[in-house]
Amino acid sequence: MLLIKNAETYAPEYLGKKDILTGGGAILAIADRLSDIEGAEIIDADSKWVFPGFIDQHVHVTGAGGKNGFVSMTPELTASELAVCGTTTVVGLLGTDGAARSIKTLYAKVKALEQQGLTAYMYTGYYGVDPVHILDSIQEEMIFIDKVLGCKIAISDVRSSYPTDLELLRILKQVRVGGMIASKKGIMHIHLGGLKTCMDPLFRMVEDYEFPIEHISPTHVGRTKTIFESAKAFAKMGGMIDITTGASKYTDPHLSVLEAINEGVSIDKITFSSDGNAGLEKRDASGKVIGLRRAPVDQNYAEVVALIREGSLSVSDAIKPITLNPAINLGLKQKGRIAVGADADFCFVDPSNFELTDVIGRGEVLKKNGNVTINEPFS
Ligand SMILES: [Zn+2]
Repeated sequence: MLLIKNAETYAPEYLGKKDILTGGGAILAIADRLSDIEGAEIIDADSKWVFPGFIDQHVHVTGAGGKNGFVSMTPELTASELAVCGTTTVVGLLGTDGAARSIKTLYAKVKALEQQGLTAYMYTGYYGVDPVHILDSIQEEMIFIDKVLGCKIAISDVRSSYPTDLELLRILKQVRVGGMIASKKGIMHIHLGGLKTCMDPLFRMVEDYEFPIEHISPTHVGRTKTIFESAKAFAKMGGMIDITTGASKYTDPHLSVLEAINEGVSIDKITFSSDGNAGLEKRDASGKVIGLRRAPVDQNYAEVVALIREGSLSVSDAIKPITLNPAINLGLKQKGRIAVGADADFCFVDPSNFELTDVIGRGEVLKKNGNVTINEPFS
């Protein structure tokens, strides 16, 4: 049990200064003042802002890349690399490569991250429509594998399978019906490339085929200005749009958010994800490739800080794209909020400098006073 005292609590709505009691990995009580309980470890939040643990719904935990040969494949991430930037819930996925990268390895990595104190899930599939899954179908994986929240696919990209409407609909049906049976929401997480077909197939799914929009989860929507125009329209129809912070963007992600809000998009329809560990190229000023780099995993919170500093967003609204909104998108009722019964995932922030000082995942301290406390077995 943990008793967190004197926390300026953002749930994400502001609750005021609260004491929070956790036990068994969940939040047991929230009150202005809770008396000490025998056996509970007391953590004085010391008037820090306490947020729900951050959610990153697009991370290449087993590595990605490969655009420049085998040597350009990025290595695996560690749990510490995620926890240090406040990510307590991560969704791992494959990218372009469904051959040299295995969905079974992804499952094993997700389980390993979970053993180290994070909450970890995965999407099945990869860029293509050809089957890359563990069981016989996407629908079976939705039903029988707890860690599978949905399916990944790519559209409007030269590396995609150029899926037809019918192929997309049949995958959507599998995540939705599988989700119904397994009490999951079920989403299709869609990588958007830069081809001019843009988000057109997704609008057809909703408008022509009447598919419920909440199962359709486009990402990299800030890749180009053209895509972002479509994404704003999609959000106004009720869809959730995901802006990538670590790669694939035409402008700073917080500027995209501010633009969308100015044009009438609700902050409740926007998420950030890192695309962390994607393989990127380092280029010089003339655009020549001079090396390789991994997409960073720490930019989601940096963009939230920019929203608070440069935008006119309240702290409550600014943290929604990495807390409540991805929880809603993924259908994780116990994540992304500070409430009795929710998981005991927290990020502590020093309000004087926005520094992320402490991270707690399912009631276990993962970062304390700026230092990660996770045991990395091979470090
Ligand atoms: Zn990616």
